[in-house]
Amino acid sequence: ILNNYVKASVKESDMSLRTSKIQLKIPSGCDGAVLVKNLYLSCDPYMLSRMKKLEGHYVASYTPDSPITGYGVSKVLDSSHPNFKTGELVWGGTGWEEYSLIKDPSLLFKVQDKDLPLSYYTGILGMPGMTAYVGFFELCSPKKGETVYVSAASGAVGQLVGQFAKTAGCYVVGSAGSKEKVDLLKNKFGFDDAFNYKEEQDYNAALKRYFPDGIDIYFENVGGKMLEAVLNNMKLFGRVAVCGMISQYSLEQPEGVHNLSNLITKRVRMEGFIVSDHYHLYPKFLEMVVPLIKEGKITYVEDIAEGIESAPGALVGLFSGRNVGKQVVAVARE
Ligand code: NDP
Repeated sequence: ILNNYVKASVKESDMSLRTSKIQLKIPSGCDGAVLVKNLYLSCDPYMLSRMKKLEGHYVASYTPDSPITGYGVSKVLDSSHPNFKTGELVWGGTGWEEYSLIKDPSLLFKVQDKDLPLSYYTGILGMPGMTAYVGFFELCSPKKGETVYVSAASGAVGQLVGQFAKTAGCYVVGSAGSKEKVDLLKNKFGFDDAFNYKEEQDYNAALKRYFPDGIDIYFENVGGKMLEAVLNNMKLFGRVAVCGMISQYSLEQPEGVHNLSNLITKRVRMEGFIVSDHYHLYPKFLEMVVPLIKEGKITYVEDIAEGIESAPGALVGLFSGRNVGKQVVAVARE
């Protein structure tokens, strides 16, 4: 339950756990609804925006004193919707609950491939996977030999962007916030190089060291001073996919970026996107990514917290980098 709107950063005490009795059956008058048992819940940075009282945002604010909602993987227990049957596995929009009555299942997708870990549908086979795919391939049109920089590179989205960049024949460098994460980037995900941004006094100098000839593609996950440094280091006709700006989400006053004129002088294209506008590409994405996983050409690191009680801490941890890989909460195994 979200206790009340959050002003800047989020703490575990902004949420609480509540127990209530429900019928494991669709109540009468709920045509088109689906009742699910939630197996895995996904912790995603955008959820902090929904905890704030925002107007005109692309997603609605949560309602205080009500359960938080988000992405998850669930099993259908009862359905009054023609597309979903009892016993089916689904992923998509659900509640941060053990059981959820989903009145509008328009954001529910069927789990296609049951050979792969079900939790992957909160990550590589779900919303973050689609985010990496759309942002990198659709927005940035990568070409073999181009240089790619990814920030928050060990996370749910970033680890995939780096691996996609390697499959496209690019040179890719990532940044992350600890030695453990930097090692993962270089030794598990196959980034060509990586650095700990927390150990760099001057991001501009760091980027010059890793990209002496400049950056063709920047996959933007953090914003703020890192974005400013990147713009100084972009190559002519570079592309920036603006996926997220997590360094700004907990600030009451977001920082400004003062060197946007680089976009003009270097003819750089910088484009923001929201993954949910692109879900029509999901079948095409699965066609590409499932064989890559099964052939061992792409790997995925998850950080799984056990039990719904651990969900507030897991979500809060995203904003200090406590998660190593995709942060998932396992609510039930089947
Ligand atoms: P991650 O799994 O990467 O988790 C968040 C990570 O961000 C943390 O582990 C931490 O890693 C890093 N971080 C936290 N605070 C800061 C900070 N102040 N400065 C720099 N890094 C910070 O999350 P996701 O992969 O799920 O999301 C990555 C980005 O993509 C976010 O900005 C998110 O909002 C965005 N996003 C956008 C979507 C869209 O449709 N446009 C869809 C999905 C995600 P570290 O230890 O390296 O600092």
